[in-house]
Amino acid sequence: MKFKNTLYTLMTATLLAPVGLPAAAQSTFDEQFVSYPTYSGDDLELTVNGSGTHFRLWSPKATATRVNLYENGRTGKPYQVLNMTSDPETGTWTASVPGQQLYGKFYTFQIQQGGRWLDETPGVWAKAVGVNGARAAIIDFAKTNPAGWDADRGPKVDNFSDVIIYEMHHRDMSEHPSSGIANKGKFLALTEHGTLSPEGLATGIDHLKELGITHVHILPSYDYNSVDESNLPANQYNWGYDPLNYNAPEGSYSTNPSDPTARIREMKEMVKALHDAGIGVIMDVVYNHTADNDVSNFELTAPGYYHRHWDDGRYSDASGCGNETASERQQMADYIVNSVKYWADEYHIDGFRFDLMAIHDTETMNRVAAELKKINPSIFVYGEGWTAGDSPLVKERRALKENVSKMKDIAVFSDDIRDAIKGHYTDAADRGFATGKPGLEETVKIGIVAATKHPQVNYKLGNNSKFPYAESPEMIVNYISCHDDLCLTDKLRKSMAGEPEENMLSAAKLGQTIVFTSQGTPFMFAGEEIFRDKKGVHNSYKSPDSINAIDWSNKARYKDLFDYYAGLTRLRKAHPAFRMTTAKDIAKHLKFDKIDSKKQPNLISYSLLDHANGDAWKEIKVVFNGASKAQTVNIPKGNWLIVAQDGRIDPEGKLGTTAGGRMEIPPYSALILAQE
Ligand code: CA
Repeated sequence: MKFKNTLYTLMTATLLAPVGLPAAAQSTFDEQFVSYPTYSGDDLELTVNGSGTHFRLWSPKATATRVNLYENGRTGKPYQVLNMTSDPETGTWTASVPGQQLYGKFYTFQIQQGGRWLDETPGVWAKAVGVNGARAAIIDFAKTNPAGWDADRGPKVDNFSDVIIYEMHHRDMSEHPSSGIANKGKFLALTEHGTLSPEGLATGIDHLKELGITHVHILPSYDYNSVDESNLPANQYNWGYDPLNYNAPEGSYSTNPSDPTARIREMKEMVKALHDAGIGVIMDVVYNHTADNDVSNFELTAPGYYHRHWDDGRYSDASGCGNETASERQQMADYIVNSVKYWADEYHIDGFRFDLMAIHDTETMNRVAAELKKINPSIFVYGEGWTAGDSPLVKERRALKENVSKMKDIAVFSDDIRDAIKGHYTDAADRGFATGKPGLEETVKIGIVAATKHPQVNYKLGNNSKFPYAESPEMIVNYISCHDDLCLTDKLRKSMAGEPEENMLSAAKLGQTIVFTSQGTPFMFAGEEIFRDKKGVHNSYKSPDSINAIDWSNKARYKDLFDYYAGLTRLRKAHPAFRMTTAKDIAKHLKFDKIDSKKQPNLISYSLLDHANGDAWKEIKVVFNGASKAQTVNIPKGNWLIVAQDGRIDPEGKLGTTAGGRMEIPPYSALILAQE
């Protein structure tokens, strides 16, 4: 995520500082919050049960608090105001309406602190909200479950390297007229089967099945701030990295944002439809900052506590969005843990992608993964192992990419392989390994071994991280592009300007082949498989649909590319050699061939040996030529099946056979061979 400011270079550059350098300690301003009493009960803010409707707000320094009850989610005055009673031991305040289940009503909290009443807030634990999320709603959750919900399960994941991630925004996926989808821009879009592009090719959920990904990763789908839910015809678009209510779905993705149950039921229907199709659902979560500073729900319930500050009391801003949250404080750590647990329990979510994860501390992230594992061991947790600015949290404690080995069951994005394959993200014209720029071979190799320790990889020659930071390939997510920065098509058009489109398509295939054959978990950006572009806009977080929506006619136009990508997912799923689970296995079974990068730049060749990870194939030879000219390699004599060659792929190795010897690899292409 990045927006609001232009902390572009910081985004990854801050990572380059070695872990362990002296860094700022917890600010003196923040020390006051350590002594606050905390409360970890599961009845925070709202409980409806047989005895009535009960409220409990955590606000340790308030001098008075009250609940405003409303008939309506948006307009009118409260029909009743409840004064709350303090429980100083826990820092909470309680009030009840005995004997009444107030389903259909709405509420806000208000606290008095420093001699004044602050603005109303739905609290930090609103699980249902009215339009635009200003008031919390009291609903019966049992009535939001689609048919068969109790039996609903996501796909079982044995190893995280088996996961293939598809990152999508709800509007990107369905908004374009060519999607053939009725519920455009809605959660329900992914419940529609049989939808077709104008050329008669599958779109939506059927397209995902055809492509063969295992999990969709949905961009922020909690209730965010930027889109006016009361004026949907205004056609607003936003990525959603501006959190408002962390525990309720976004209203603009529902068919009726004014009905608090609609967004909940429809999101569950989407999850169920994807699960029925065998696809898991990963949520992008942004606990690292709030959309607003002083009027955020955190600030209006417990001023100061949930955010970090510098010594002079200013908000610190490691998010680049005006503030950052304070995961090292007990009540905030509990909040993050309980919030993801809630999404896993109530919505059957299969994974969480933590935005700017390094704003959080490693201890809290370890708690997140451990608690989620208890609910469902298949839940995958990964995140951006960097910040977008400096933080009062010391580097040693940050959930940085370089600290990933201090965490368990958590993965980080490899910006090493991303920038090495296609060129640096800050320079549109910069090329990468797959587009002819020499000198990036070692960084690509770091990606191939999933940043684990390998005897043939010299980390000192890497462009980014200089040591094998991952203890296991399950700690690494490999990718070539995502929603941030130029999408792959635009990057290729800018960096390969002047070359024919055919070359760009070759480079796209090569780049994605590197990602999908590398150890670790592959991740792709929605629409890349049909060469979607964003008209050259790199930070399209609030660009209109005309920039962001995927044109599904591209599927017919770039059918060959789509088929190739689908071939990559099938190859990876069929062959565990690409999905090893330990660094030891990789060091033992993955062997690079000796190539002099000075004489033959942009050429990498390696073998996966001895039925690696139980593979049916004895040996798999993988060769990448990222140069703009053909290069030759010596393949050992043998009976080789041709799996991929010159922009074609057949996961069963039926493109032909070869006896090895000198083989020519065309420009911007991969060669994959196998011996049974
Ligand atoms: Ca919203």
